[in-house]
Amino acid sequence: MKRIVVIPGDGIGPEIMAQAVKVLKAIENKYNASFQMDEALMGGVAYDEFGTCLPDSTMKMCKEYDAVLFGANGGPKWDFLTGEKRPERALAVLRKELELFINLRPVKVRKSLAGTIPLKPEIVGDGFDITLIRELIGGIYYGLPKEGDSERAVDSMIYTKGEVERISRYAFELARAESKKLTSVDKENMMEASKLWRSVVMDVSKNYPDVKLNHILVDNCAYQIVMDPRQFEIIVTGNMFGDILSDELGALAGSLGLYPSASIGYGKKGLYEPIHGTAPDIAGKGIANPIGTILSAALMLRHSFDMNEAADDMEQAVEAVLDKDFRTADIAEKDKKTVSTGEMGDLIVKEIE
Ligand code: NAD
Repeated sequence: MKRIVVIPGDGIGPEIMAQAVKVLKAIENKYNASFQMDEALMGGVAYDEFGTCLPDSTMKMCKEYDAVLFGANGGPKWDFLTGEKRPERALAVLRKELELFINLRPVKVRKSLAGTIPLKPEIVGDGFDITLIRELIGGIYYGLPKEGDSERAVDSMIYTKGEVERISRYAFELARAESKKLTSVDKENMMEASKLWRSVVMDVSKNYPDVKLNHILVDNCAYQIVMDPRQFEIIVTGNMFGDILSDELGALAGSLGLYPSASIGYGKKGLYEPIHGTAPDIAGKGIANPIGTILSAALMLRHSFDMNEAADDMEQAVEAVLDKDFRTADIAEKDKKTVSTGEMGDLIVKEIE
């Protein structure tokens, strides 16, 4: 039995999570697996009920269970919250407490979605498949001092050799396992933390002579992703650069609603969530795209539960539904069938069955 904490969160969170749960139940039946899925509160809904975005009861479950499946949190209703009380801090604290230092964002751009991609067909070609690995619990979002007033503010970009070693080792292992080339992104010409980053990545690379490695400055990387994305296979980078580049990749790929992410650490436990936020503009309308959340559940099967076949099955079911020209509103195209959030979930379930 695998125990999963299910955290729908705010905005479209409950709508998209209901579809992922439906799909996991189909997988449970087909593969004779057993998932205990228990809901927990985090974000604005938790604040309304407990006066905090991250209740102790939620943290306790996340520490005890095998995996966490998360929707998104935050929204205009809770914009009055400041500092440590904000919903995004709840997520940052949870990742740190669980020591989830690796954030994986696979972005696979399918030819079937060419009509929704804001790139010229000759740049997209047959599509591309990039995995971005972002260091998640170090760097400028966590470094101290971090303070400010109306006259002066400071954030500190700190990386230690150990932090860079562990994330780059993971990146080299993945590149080796998948026979892919690795690109390390930094700002080595301007920042001390990036000089250390590059030199540690180069040291680690000595143990992986079979992996092709190159280094690129973050500004050039942002440019190259738009001009020639097919040159990238696996990218490894620090927290803030990864945050920005992953949204760029998500946007290129058609819609933020399509893509999953996994936050993992040393063990099997992980936190899985779509790359988008709570989409307050469409919440409650039944039109959100649940695919990013469903593909996040597939990453959970693969990384936390070693259920590779079931994960492949889920991903192929999503491909099949897109190939049959079903679309949610965010990726709607002329001559294709637009379906609701719930219908998209049902179609993927049917495909799996
Ligand atoms: P957003 O990702 O919520 O939305 C950006 C745009 O993408 C919107 O037009 C939205 O409708 C669309 N979109 C997003 N997900 C979609 C989906 N599944 N299907 C169809 N369309 C989708 O980003 P935002 O508007 O900047 O943020 C809204 C709220 O979400 C804010 O409160 C923000 O703090 C929060 N947020 C939370 C997370 C998280 O919990 N991990 C991440 C980002 C933003």
